[in-house]
Amino acid sequence: MKKSARKAIIAGNWKMNKTATEAAQLIDELIPAVAGADCEVVICTPFTSLVTAVEKTKGTNIHVGAENVHFEKSGAFTGEISADMLVDLGVEYVITGHSERRQYFAETDETVNKRTKAALEAGLKVIVCVGESLAQREQGVTEELVRMQTKIALQGVTAEEMSRVIIAYEPVWAIGTGRTATADQAQEVCVAIRKVIGELYGEVVAEATTVQYGGSMNAKNADELLGKLDVDGGLIGGASLKAPDFGAIVAAASK
Ligand code: PEP
Repeated sequence: MKKSARKAIIAGNWKMNKTATEAAQLIDELIPAVAGADCEVVICTPFTSLVTAVEKTKGTNIHVGAENVHFEKSGAFTGEISADMLVDLGVEYVITGHSERRQYFAETDETVNKRTKAALEAGLKVIVCVGESLAQREQGVTEELVRMQTKIALQGVTAEEMSRVIIAYEPVWAIGTGRTATADQAQEVCVAIRKVIGELYGEVVAEATTVQYGGSMNAKNADELLGKLDVDGGLIGGASLKAPDFGAIVAAASK
């Protein structure tokens, strides 16, 4: 399958930014900025802005995602949010395994797998994040590490469910640092991820799966990164909070 036959997805990860009131203002700016997109556009907002985001994006080309989900369906898990709760709000996407969750909230490959499966079971589309630290890149274990994270995250996920899975390659050293992987580095690891998906599910699924790059992607470097054959879009942090920048990245993915 050609790159052009895969779905390019540009997803914003707002992290812990924007009150619901501020989110409404940003969405008002984003709607015209991405209206002409020829790719899927997603905004992943804090839980507190999801209702606003779903309401305000109705009838637009913007899809809404959450930044995390718990793996249990309900029960004594104070402070957590289930996949059914997200679906009930009209949320379509969720991020699992973001490196900030792994780093600050003790997220493991096993819990990423449990969250991914719970989200898929509820009907959500899942952006699964994988990526190496700077030390791991310097130790030369990037490919092994990313292969392992991908394999564990996808344990028990069926080939049919893979149509709702997006893998985001996010080198930890490039997230929020202003330091971007080169386009060649991004391509190399995205190829490795596609290869492991091929080993697990076969060529057809591997070729159809959207593999994004994330890590300081911005209006300036998006063209080069997204020009690579196996980079099917981006997960965007900082630049997703500025409508003109996010619009420029979406435009680069629409070429
Ligand atoms: C992210 O939060 O997933 C991310 C890639 O952040 P940034 O674009 O700010 O590096």
